[in-house]
Amino acid sequence: MQVPFLSFEPQHKPLREAMQNAFARVYDSHWYVLGREVEQFEKEYASFSQVAHAVGVANGLDALVLALRALEIGPGDEVIVPSNTYIATWLAVTQVGATPVPVEPDPATSNLDPACIEAALMPRTRAIMPVHLYGQACRMTEIMNIATRHGLFVIEDNAQAQGASYAGQYTGSFGHVNGTSFYPGKNLGALGDAGAITTNSNDLAQRIRVLRNYGSQRKYYNEVMGYNSRLDELQAALLRVKLPELPTWTLQRQQVAAWYDKHLDGIAGLRLPVVAQGATHVYHLYVIHTEHRDALQQHLTAQGIGTLIHYPVPPHRQQAYHGLDLAAGDYPIATELAATCLSLPIWPGMSEDHVAAVAVAIRNF
Ligand SMILES: *Cc1c(COP(=O)(O)O)cnc(C)c1O
Repeated sequence: MQVPFLSFEPQHKPLREAMQNAFARVYDSHWYVLGREVEQFEKEYASFSQVAHAVGVANGLDALVLALRALEIGPGDEVIVPSNTYIATWLAVTQVGATPVPVEPDPATSNLDPACIEAALMPRTRAIMPVHLYGQACRMTEIMNIATRHGLFVIEDNAQAQGASYAGQYTGSFGHVNGTSFYPGKNLGALGDAGAITTNSNDLAQRIRVLRNYGSQRKYYNEVMGYNSRLDELQAALLRVKLPELPTWTLQRQQVAAWYDKHLDGIAGLRLPVVAQGATHVYHLYVIHTEHRDALQQHLTAQGIGTLIHYPVPPHRQQAYHGLDLAAGDYPIATELAATCLSLPIWPGMSEDHVAAVAVAIRNF
């Protein structure tokens, strides 16, 4: 049985007509940037996230950049980031001129280890950026306590974890200002690039509304050096169709993960995802670890099973960050996780037969 890494078919097929109606509504409105659809989506996404404000922006990276700018973090400032995240987290920090300070993850969950944060704090540290990697919430109670104790801001990178929670509270609602992505493959995906910030602060929400639109509140009067990073009406209208489905899709992802847990149980040398106490996992990705990762991936590819590696090179070893002067041997946990991780197929609507086929192929290997 062929199993693609990701299929949109079961999510998109039943929504075809509703999506076409949303398109027609925007098409006929003759208003395409920052209008009623964006306003409504922002209200609906804020309500979903249980925060006071959501502000739509062009993509997830911009959401993190605007969050840092709104907090006036820039040159000379240091920001704690995970050593094993997607590069966007680091790029946001370097784009505003600040310095990323990597902290190692808990190897069991791949999420930032709160116990390692305090040792990395310096006089110029301004913020912590936890990433809810693969869809699992970080241990936010401990992270918020550390931030409060040291007077730091928290910016959650919630690109992979819409709908996850820690101690019963949604990700994207803990930090002072948080970013998320609606890249098509994310748990809530647009049909193109899109993102949002979430915050409970009126002031920060207002600053980001200004920053995303050329630093202007009143057309042609510019208060700050802003960006063009607006969520467009069409993507907002399409996201409004998909958002009500997200809780069902999350349950389906969690069901697929439970099937994997069952079918892959007891295979020597294979480590399955671990969920920390108090956290929920929305399985943006189902990531296993093995010393034989490359050979296993080749074996699965030959059987028609799609897999990906998230991520093969940790940011400190990327050529882009050559200049940061971080030694290759630093961050051994990030390096080890990058060498052993493999993301198996997972998408809402995937069947237990698909999961069983993947598991049989892994057992045969
Ligand atoms: C996808 C992603 C981003 C960036 O989102 P884009 O919309 O692609 O800019 C940031 N951080 C993480 C962890 C991501 O997975």
